[in-house]
Amino acid sequence: MDLTLTDEEREVREWVRTFVSKEIMPLEQTVLERERRHERGLSFDELKALQDKAKESGFFGVQTPEEYGGMGLGALMSALIEVELGRSFVQFKFGGDADNILFSANDEQKKEYLLPTINGEKHSCFAITEPGAGSDARNIRTSAVRDGDEWVINGEKTFITGGDIADFCLVFAVTDKEKGADGGVTCFLADRDAGWTSTTIDTMGEWGPAALSFQDVRVPHSSILGEEGRGFELAMKWIGKGRYMLPARALGACERLVEMAMEHAQNRETFGAPIATRQAIQWMVADSAVEIEALRWLVLTAAWQVDNGRDSRQAQSMAKLYGGVKANEIVDRMLQIHGGMGYTRELPIERWYRELRLLRIYEGTDEIQRRTIARNLLAGHASVRGHLG
Ligand SMILES: Cc1cc2nc3c(=O)[nH]c(=O)nc-3n(C[C@H](O)[C@H](O)[C@H](O)COP(=O)(O)OP(=O)(O)OC[C@H]3O[C@@H](n4cnc5c(N)ncnc54)[C@H](O)[C@@H]3O)c2cc1C
Repeated sequence: MDLTLTDEEREVREWVRTFVSKEIMPLEQTVLERERRHERGLSFDELKALQDKAKESGFFGVQTPEEYGGMGLGALMSALIEVELGRSFVQFKFGGDADNILFSANDEQKKEYLLPTINGEKHSCFAITEPGAGSDARNIRTSAVRDGDEWVINGEKTFITGGDIADFCLVFAVTDKEKGADGGVTCFLADRDAGWTSTTIDTMGEWGPAALSFQDVRVPHSSILGEEGRGFELAMKWIGKGRYMLPARALGACERLVEMAMEHAQNRETFGAPIATRQAIQWMVADSAVEIEALRWLVLTAAWQVDNGRDSRQAQSMAKLYGGVKANEIVDRMLQIHGGMGYTRELPIERWYRELRLLRIYEGTDEIQRRTIARNLLAGHASVRGHLG
């Protein structure tokens, strides 16, 4: 078993590491100050300028296939990149990405939605959650009724990331009540111009998702993504893509937080000695380092399974669950090591503390990941011996 990185993986990772430390981290203080004033940390123009800079070195569309101008990198490389980006709280992402399920669009839809999304001309959002259906996404009530060559959508969506800025949404609606999620949910590409509205939801994080309202919103039949009635599978495919990427980002944050706390602990003296000499502090550092390492291998194992065409659902749920739980424990400990300073808004720790809390909720809560993991084990689809058997 070879657990080392290839030269190429190492080079790509080094490039991103340098980019983050030279281009992103210097912006952190400004971003913090703006966020404290309830402004966007990075303006769209600033984000675009950074993305363009990265593009000059070929960093564009990390997972986007090369035929669309992207890098077409695999899951493992993408996870390694995400860890590096996670080391800063600045909400940077490379340009050139699009929702994975948009790649299954037909040629017309690709022209109208996929390509402009890759080029940054259009923004999408993914809308399945409703006030009455979150974890239980099979229970959505938003309906779409056919009227000639159009569909009429009615319903409410909630907590939709990017819903306040999106030009179009991938909205999931019931088209056959009898069948429900088993062949009766359809995904529509609905332009904002078609008439849906959005209202930002204030959250404990720095950026809020939005509630979307559909009242007799008419979209053409040609706006169906994939097959009529097969939307639920598309939704699961969309959600599945993030289960190793989200904890990868959190992993980077945890690395940085532990580094910050170690530096603080070596400089901060109490009772005549640096707090780093106290066992209470050392144990917090040690436990966190072990958990970071365990998380790294859960994330990389899940990504490796994706790249190798294996059923990665169990590994992805494990990475998502462990990442959510441990990142929250680690940020809490690192805040503790900083004492009162950790609680202030002068440092970004309390910001991470609030942001990482989300990881235990979206794209499958802790409880839903545990449910998936236990079910797979109990049904014999997975083994406690892991994928090596
Ligand atoms: C900031 C943010 C961004 C989001 N972005 C998006 C987005 O872009 N698109 C989108 O569609 N959705 C999005 N969501 C929605 C998110 O996926 C849901 O909030 C999440 O799935 C949980 O659903 P819920 O909030 O309805 O909680 P509920 O499903 O009501 O769950 C409440 C609690 O009960 C637990 N629970 C539920 N069922 C069970 C069970 N069977 N066994 C044990 N415990 C259970 C849950 O784990 C949770 O602790 C976002 C949410 C947030 C907060």
